[in-house]
Amino acid sequence: MLEPHSFAAGKWIAPAKEASILHSPVTGAQIARAGGAALDFQGMIDFAKTKGGPALREMTFHQRAKMLKALGAYIASRKEELYALNPLTGATRKDGRVDIDGGIGTMFVFASKGRREMPDGHIYLDGDLEQLSKNGTFLGQHIALPLHGVAVHINAFNFPIWGMLEKLAPALLAGVPCIVKPATQTSFLTEACVRIMMDSGLLPEGAVQLIVGRTGDLLDRLGAQDIVSFTGSARTALALRSVPNLIENGTRFIAEQDSLNASILGLDAGVGTPEFDLFIREASTEITTKAGQKCTAIRRMIVPEGLVDPVIEALSARLDKVTIGDPEVEGVRMGALVSVSQKADVLDMVAQIGNEATRVYGDADNFNVEGADSAQGFLPPMLFRCDDPDGAKLVHEVEAFGPVSTVLPYRDTAHAADLANRGQGSLVASVITNDAQIARDITLASAHWHGRLYFNNRTSMAESTGHGAPLPHMIHGGPGRAGGGEEMGGIRGVMHYMQRTAIQGSPDILTAIGEVWVSGAEEKPCKVHPFQRSYHEIEIGDTIRTDKRVVTVEDIEHFAHFTGDTFYAHMDEDAAKANPFFPGRVAHGYLLLSFAAGLFVQPDPGPVLANTGLNNLTFQSPVSPDDTIYVRLTAKRKTQRTDEYGEVRWNATLYNQHDDQVAEYELLTMVAYSR
Ligand code: NAP
Repeated sequence: MLEPHSFAAGKWIAPAKEASILHSPVTGAQIARAGGAALDFQGMIDFAKTKGGPALREMTFHQRAKMLKALGAYIASRKEELYALNPLTGATRKDGRVDIDGGIGTMFVFASKGRREMPDGHIYLDGDLEQLSKNGTFLGQHIALPLHGVAVHINAFNFPIWGMLEKLAPALLAGVPCIVKPATQTSFLTEACVRIMMDSGLLPEGAVQLIVGRTGDLLDRLGAQDIVSFTGSARTALALRSVPNLIENGTRFIAEQDSLNASILGLDAGVGTPEFDLFIREASTEITTKAGQKCTAIRRMIVPEGLVDPVIEALSARLDKVTIGDPEVEGVRMGALVSVSQKADVLDMVAQIGNEATRVYGDADNFNVEGADSAQGFLPPMLFRCDDPDGAKLVHEVEAFGPVSTVLPYRDTAHAADLANRGQGSLVASVITNDAQIARDITLASAHWHGRLYFNNRTSMAESTGHGAPLPHMIHGGPGRAGGGEEMGGIRGVMHYMQRTAIQGSPDILTAIGEVWVSGAEEKPCKVHPFQRSYHEIEIGDTIRTDKRVVTVEDIEHFAHFTGDTFYAHMDEDAAKANPFFPGRVAHGYLLLSFAAGLFVQPDPGPVLANTGLNNLTFQSPVSPDDTIYVRLTAKRKTQRTDEYGEVRWNATLYNQHDDQVAEYELLTMVAYSR
């Protein structure tokens, strides 16, 4: 019998005598005792805030990102221990892949985004500099720093690993310690993963704690720097978000709730098209993966009225091939629901849907189960058909969290969008169409009700990720019924755990805070050319001003004929004069860039390894023949890339003989650590 322990203030705590007994949904046997332990919740909060928080905040974003990568790799090296427990949740190995490998993959994505999109420092710059004054002496910049609190993650039963890791990754990357509370029914799998994480020795003490069982008065003890991230039913979310202490303190509360996700078959996607077949495949996958216990599963299939019968026929034929049974038996495609009581819950919901829709496939009283007793947590896939989707209410409201979906007919695209929106807020709606105009019409009519719109067709189907797969790069969450939350979405998900602060001040102040040189801040003149300095030697603000160069008409003509760019503004005085932007013939912008490189480059071999690009190039005023140009090059930002080199970004500004700016850009170089 498994005994998942809590992990509180650095100690593993066994379930109490009066723990809940968990049964296998496959055999009915007792599999675990969980919960009931009297935990010191204040002690857990204090431990997180005095140990985990300071240790995490001491690290830079890059150090935390590297920690996530190493942690993901460590869990991956022991993932078979998790797969061994996975069938006890009723899930097949394929279902487990979404949970276990999906969770590990999410950590890797956050690790990589943290390295690429966040600084190797302690302050995240959010967005661009804001010009608040005419002469640039008073500027604005949004920054973000980690909250000094604890993140409480309350998770649903269906993804005991992914559900934990998709929240831990952004929170730890931000630098906030976490207390994880998994759903009791599948807590043994979460606990096994937490044990692996602790064995890794990679996490600072207090960074992650675990509650198996109930949260007691934990939420009554949270404050303004804390955050609750909840995943589960709308009912529980409402109860938790209404806890007076959370409201009084303005404690952040993110909710990912249930949702009546829709999939729309486009009007163009008749029988025989690749889109029709794709729709059937996606619908079948969504109904049967995890036995339909997925927050993103398709609950409503919205199909052109003339295609209702063909869709039901094709989908039924496909579902006929799905073997239901013991998830460990070879060939079984759909396992059990998580528990017999979850099955009873689904059957209640099915009865309600049955008041408005007719069951056209799947009989819960009569179906085959491989290697197990159908009286346990098993259900067959069930399809309903609702011929009056406008008059119906329950089919748009009642979430049967199992292998259940309803087909609804629509007349035209506007009607389809209207029906999808009647779910009152969803995590995802998919549209299977090869008609881009249909996709745009549905986006305009529907995007405001859905967290994600997933379009798929013959072009994208081979590489598409699936209607029901939330990706760490994209936001997961949705308005209204779906909880109003927004998780993941790359760095957006990390921002939940940080405070955004507007900083206003002079260029020097902003440079010192953000560790990124701001135009107008102190320039540090270099005696040695900065391209002769190694990554470590270069300091933010290091500057050279180059020699001057006259741009002649011969230079312009030579460049024009050499490159083939004989645009009239460079070649024809009268035509150029007629153009509102130019006083007459002007130098090519790209000629100026090339001259700039010629002016600032230090040609000898040295630590600068490569020029990897340039950003935000603007040509600000024209350069005429016989004008003189020079460049100011300033080290702007440094980011470590590998153990051997780092990226240095330079502000390059070109001036003319009147010291007016003529062009500006950010130059990207890779610079070696040693000379
Ligand atoms: P649930 O019953 O609402 O439980 C969710 C979590 O809340 C569990 O950890 C549960 O713990 C905990 N909980 C319940 N009452 C609590 C209380 N008074 N204080 C503190 N914690 C409490 O949902 P579920 O049955 O686990 O999950 C199924 C639902 O989740 C479905 O409706 C599904 O759509 C939704 N879901 C949404 C998403 C999403 O990302 N939007 C993802 C997955 C699932 P116990 O297990 O100990 O009761």
